[in-house]
Amino acid sequence: MEKILIIEDERDMVTGLKFNLEARGYHVTAAYDGEAGCRKALDEQPDLVILDLMLPKKNGYEVCRCLKEESPAIPIIMLTAKSQEAEIVTGLELGADDYVTKPFGLLELLARIKAVLRRVKTGTRIPETYHIGDLEINFRKYNALKRRKPLSLSPREFEILKYFIERRGEIVSREDLLNHVWGYETFPNTRTVDTHIAKLRQKIEDDPEQPTLIVTMHGIGYKFLG
Ligand code: CA
Repeated sequence: MEKILIIEDERDMVTGLKFNLEARGYHVTAAYDGEAGCRKALDEQPDLVILDLMLPKKNGYEVCRCLKEESPAIPIIMLTAKSQEAEIVTGLELGADDYVTKPFGLLELLARIKAVLRRVKTGTRIPETYHIGDLEINFRKYNALKRRKPLSLSPREFEILKYFIERRGEIVSREDLLNHVWGYETFPNTRTVDTHIAKLRQKIEDDPEQPTLIVTMHGIGYKFLG
């Protein structure tokens, strides 16, 4: 049984999450402030930590920093208050594996939990810095360079690239991308995926009209050849 530790001071939220996660077979424990959360995570060594950012005693960033120093293998999903890129990027820089924006749907969080646990289990954690030709992507610092010049990629674009790299050489459908990169948060459609891919190609491909990294598989989806 996989153990999940929830670190969150809103008790109603913890109760609801605990109930729903236990119903799906996870073993769930909780801590209600950052200090207790840190201690509990190090004692119990859970398979996953769900970490709120706004916490008494120690905030989510401090907890994240402490866990990544003391026990870096424990994956962390951060709960951020709103979709603020700065917050998300800081969390990811500190080593969080994924994030979910409040308010979130249960299905979205479940999809994220499954994805993170799957990545850990199959060992497909992406190296910190990934090189493809003249492209260099750092998934820890969330920055990217092309021909040594900084590229400005959004958190979503990093997520898309991360997923492509995990499934390099395989055909990835638009639905796969929607499920893994967008989760269930906003019911985007497959056209959203195409729009994001087009933008990403503008940034990373030598010739976006003749892409060689993200190749279209007509009627099916995409294939990443990096
Ligand atoms: Ca909170």
